Amino acid sequence: MKRGLLLIISGPAGSGKGTVIKELMENSDEFVYSVSATTRKPRPSDVEGVSYYFVSREEFEDKIARGEMLEYAEYVDNFYGTPKAPVVAALEAGKNVILEIETKGALAVMEKMPEAVSVMLLPPSGKVLRRRLERRGTETADVIEKRMQTAINEVEMLKYYDYLVINDEDAQSKAADDIRAIIKAEKLSAKRNAEFIDNYFV
Ligand code: 5GP
Repeated sequence: MKRGLLLIISGPAGSGKGTVIKELMENSDEFVYSVSATTRKPRPSDVEGVSYYFVSREEFEDKIARGEMLEYAEYVDNFYGTPKAPVVAALEAGKNVILEIETKGALAVMEKMPEAVSVMLLPPSGKVLRRRLERRGTETADVIEKRMQTAINEVEMLKYYDYLVINDEDAQSKAADDIRAIIKAEKLSAKRNAEFIDNYFV
């Protein structure tokens, strides 16, 4: 069985990660979404074990101490982390595993698992990003400014990523198409097919 691809998808709040990942996974059984653990409180739309595993800070620290996390990071006062075992099992079963994680955790995964493919998803411009953050509802100007600053810091991490995908709300399925194209090209890359040549003449 050929190992699946480990796909890191990062993007600031307002980049539309959720929608693009949903579209990517729809009607396809080649993907597994890695369900993270977090200490943040569930939102009304969250489903335990589907969106996240919601845990206390103590439980989260225990998981780290037991070496169960592939990576973890603190983001806006909460911990988020990727349980390692399900990721390894899915990759071995030939599935492409999607890690929807922020940039610090992404850098840790790139270091530990250099075969991972990393994609940063961004709206077409900083202006559009700001508009999307403002549209999110009832937040004060202060909160929006803080989010915008976090987003700016995240965008600056693009230089560490393999690919940039633009998510334009007027052409939403294009971002998912672009990611499918990246996966296809990566799977055809020479470096991922070295063992094909090993057995070519035998
Ligand atoms: P939210 O609270 O909006 O669901 O997520 C906040 C941020 O945490 C997002 O950028 C999301 O991608 C990131 N995130 C979610 N799960 C993980 C994880 O397991 N590890 C890391 N490092 N970031 C995560």
